[in-house]
Amino acid sequence: MRAELTLQQLTGLDESHLVALADGHRLQPGAAQALLRLQEDARHAGFELAVASSHRSFERQLAIFNGKALGQRPVHDDHGTPVDMAGLSDRQKLGAILRFSALPGTSRHHWGTDLDVYDKAAVDAAYPVQLTPAEAAEGGPFHRLHNWLDQQMAAGNSHGFYRPYAQDHGGIAPERWHLSYAPVSASCDGRISAPDLVEIWGDRLALGAAVRDMLEEILLRYVRVSAGWCPRQ
Ligand SMILES: [Zn+2]
Repeated sequence: MRAELTLQQLTGLDESHLVALADGHRLQPGAAQALLRLQEDARHAGFELAVASSHRSFERQLAIFNGKALGQRPVHDDHGTPVDMAGLSDRQKLGAILRFSALPGTSRHHWGTDLDVYDKAAVDAAYPVQLTPAEAAEGGPFHRLHNWLDQQMAAGNSHGFYRPYAQDHGGIAPERWHLSYAPVSASCDGRISAPDLVEIWGDRLALGAAVRDMLEEILLRYVRVSAGWCPRQ
């Protein structure tokens, strides 16, 4: 039986659906079991598939988003270069932030089905994992792992994990490192509405007026993923 996540769980306000992994990261139970199997396969192929980030709460996502919106946290462009936010309009600031960071309440990381991965065996212990496109691209340390993952997905051997952000449609950057456990997450897409979010945010969201003005557009462009990102679940 497939349990549907509640609105509170989908928006990162309730964490009762999560279990802890050995490394302290937390996922939805089905995703956690499938990840163990994927990690085992990766080990046989010579990789150490490690988790850089997994579940993220609403409060954490709010702190990340507000920090970027208020200029207290760096915002990077596609090349990993810091963006000079001071000269941008609120609309431009939102575009820069949303390329890599979700609005609180809309992150797939709230669901416990989605995680960011890297190959621990490809770097030394002191290497600061940044999750940039360059790390996952040709010449980057995690390129081989991601190519192996591509092959596993194409062959139907990825234990339900696929990439919701594989293609660049001008919204969210293609994030090869972001995997999603489709048997649960495929039914989570599109369940959060604009009115739900406005109510959850209250007056706590930085750039809140600009976000509310553009909300339907933001949901279409940055939150909903394209059909066909995973086989039918
Ligand atoms: Zn991610």
